[in-house]
Amino acid sequence: MYLKSIELSGFKSFAKKSTFDFNSPIAGVVGPNGSGKSNAAEAFRFVLGEQSMKAMRTKRGADLIWVGNEHYPKANRARVAVVFDNKDKFLNIDFDEVHIERIAHRDGAHEYFINGSKVRLKDVTELLSKANIGASGHHIISQGEADRILNATPMERRAMIEEALGLKTFHFKKIESEKKLDTVLENIREAKMVRRELAPRLEVLKQKMVQLERRRTLKKKLHDLFVFYITSQSKQIADKKENTLLRKRQLQAELEQYRNAQVESKSGVDNQSKLDDARNRIVEIDIQEKELAKEKSTLEHKKGILMGRRDALSDVEIQKKDTTAVDATVVKEVLAYIKDSIRSASEKKDFSLLSGVIAHIDTFQQKYLSAKGSESDEQTKRTDSDSASIDSDIAKLENEIAIIETQEEALRAARSNAIADLQKSHEYEREKERKQNEESTHITKIQDELQSLSTKEQKIQRDIEKLTTMKHRAEDLGVDYSHGVVAMDNDYGDGEDVVIEIEKTQALLNESEGVDESIVSEYKDIEARYNIINNEVGDLEHSRKTILNILADIDTEIATRFNEGMEKINTEFHSFFTMLFSGGHSKLVVEKQNGEEDEHIKEGIQVEVQLPRKKATSLEVLSGGERALTSIALIFAMSQVNPPPFIILDETDAALDEANSRRYAQMVQALSDKSQLILITHNRRTMEAAGELYGVTMGSDGISKLLSVKFEEALSVAK
Ligand code: ATP
Ligand code: MG
Repeated sequence: MYLKSIELSGFKSFAKKSTFDFNSPIAGVVGPNGSGKSNAAEAFRFVLGEQSMKAMRTKRGADLIWVGNEHYPKANRARVAVVFDNKDKFLNIDFDEVHIERIAHRDGAHEYFINGSKVRLKDVTELLSKANIGASGHHIISQGEADRILNATPMERRAMIEEALGLKTFHFKKIESEKKLDTVLENIREAKMVRRELAPRLEVLKQKMVQLERRRTLKKKLHDLFVFYITSQSKQIADKKENTLLRKRQLQAELEQYRNAQVESKSGVDNQSKLDDARNRIVEIDIQEKELAKEKSTLEHKKGILMGRRDALSDVEIQKKDTTAVDATVVKEVLAYIKDSIRSASEKKDFSLLSGVIAHIDTFQQKYLSAKGSESDEQTKRTDSDSASIDSDIAKLENEIAIIETQEEALRAARSNAIADLQKSHEYEREKERKQNEESTHITKIQDELQSLSTKEQKIQRDIEKLTTMKHRAEDLGVDYSHGVVAMDNDYGDGEDVVIEIEKTQALLNESEGVDESIVSEYKDIEARYNIINNEVGDLEHSRKTILNILADIDTEIATRFNEGMEKINTEFHSFFTMLFSGGHSKLVVEKQNGEEDEHIKEGIQVEVQLPRKKATSLEVLSGGERALTSIALIFAMSQVNPPPFIILDETDAALDEANSRRYAQMVQALSDKSQLILITHNRRTMEAAGELYGVTMGSDGISKLLSVKFEEALSVAK
């Protein structure tokens, strides 16, 4: 028993506060026509959130409020509150007792409360639909509407059955998911549109970024090249400059030395005088030698004459002893002497010697070929004295000659000295010349090198100028080269190669003009936006899939529950039907319905019945009572499959005869095992089945009054 009580005040004919407390699984509500029983049933619909005014037999909300009369003034609001026992949490809310309250105001406003807290209608609907007690639910069968389910179209019937099966929750979920899906699809469409707009711009910017990156690389390279060039070149130039200067100084010092040496060697005047002196001496010696030779020759001549004379004297002597002995031997000796003397004279080139030979020949002639005899003695006498004086003369001459020879010897010695001096001077002269040659070669070499050094200096000067130009260019580009060396990937060799590379790089950089750093922020911005939107599309696609999965799951769940539910309902339907009609057949059949053109083909539910001993299966041919019984069988069957906590039946039993009233009472009894029953009735059998009875009366004041009654009272009240 979930339904504990319901309290009405200002609702329709219940002008004053009236409360039903339910203590029995079957409560009967009895009372005369027009006393307000149906109003009470509608109070249930009202408080459970019914939105259809028609279902509450009014046109506007204000009609639900006590209208007022001369006995009792109109109410400002209609209020209904229902109390559920929720100890076993059949309502998904963490309270043991749940109060649901609805207030209708005259201005058409409605307020809802759950346990005193103001809530939205939706909160009430959701809470109740999960407990299988929706407002327009199958569990409240209004008066005269028992066969509503039979009158309904197949699609309406399906809706009613689905609600009875508790599928409404799933439909709510489905509708919500579909709404979400619509939103997601719309968002996807919008996001994709934005993405499409961004994509080409991003593509362009990407390309520009590639260009920019290239520019950056080129700039960096140019920077490095400049730094490399300037630093390496500065060092090289400084080194070259220093080396050149050093070398120049060295060479100049050497040159100075050579020049000094030359000046010194000019002072070789000394040697020339020595040379002249030697030459003069030789000339002098020549003169002296000639004089001496002449003197000596004279002396030799004299001596030769004297010797010839002496020889002649000695021959006379010999003749004295052996005059006749002149023979071939003597002639041979004389001839040998002549020959030797001539040879000696010719060798010595001293022809004075020859005069001795002539004297010798004269002597020989006198002795052997002319006068003989007489004069021999006289001659002999004279010969002795002459011979002595000749010898002494010869000795004198020889002495003089010896002196001359000594002098000659001295002259020879002097000559050879002079010649030696001369040679020495010549040698010195030659050596000097050689040295001078050597020096001038050196000087020429030094001068040549100095010349080439000055060429080098000019080159260095040009290098410096070039370096200055490059420095200006570097400064113009904002290159800071003051921090020294940069590591280069390539070896660019000497300065020229670097300059070529700089020009190349500069040219490439100039070519790639038109892209600058300003695009970076735009690129980043667009890229970020693109990424965001792209992620959003991704997220949305993910959501879409998730929702589609949920929808598919819901569909599966609905289908499964529906099919299972249909089977159970059919079983129960058939069972109640055969009970009420003592046989026959009844069945709910799912049939395809043609919906709107492009809508899915929907499946409605048709009712097939076959009464015992009758052929017709159409609902239209049933009698009023048969129709009532069939609908009761179906309603009961539906409630059995998914029993609601309570069921309200407003005079469902009105059309039944006595026999069927008994069967109805039995079925009600069976039904009360699973659902609490509130039965509005005039039927005695039904009243008998109820565990407690409420009487509803209305006096002359037009106000419905509520009282708990005993069965006997009920019988009289009901009339
Ligand atoms: P029956 O047995 O014939 O079905 P009943 O007990 O079900 O009768 P109701 O239909 O519940 O009777 O009550 C109808 C009465 O309620 C009418 O007399 C009607 O005037 C009265 N009524 C309906 N709405 C209001 C209202 N807003 N203010 C006052 N009275 C109202
Ligand atoms: Mg009624």
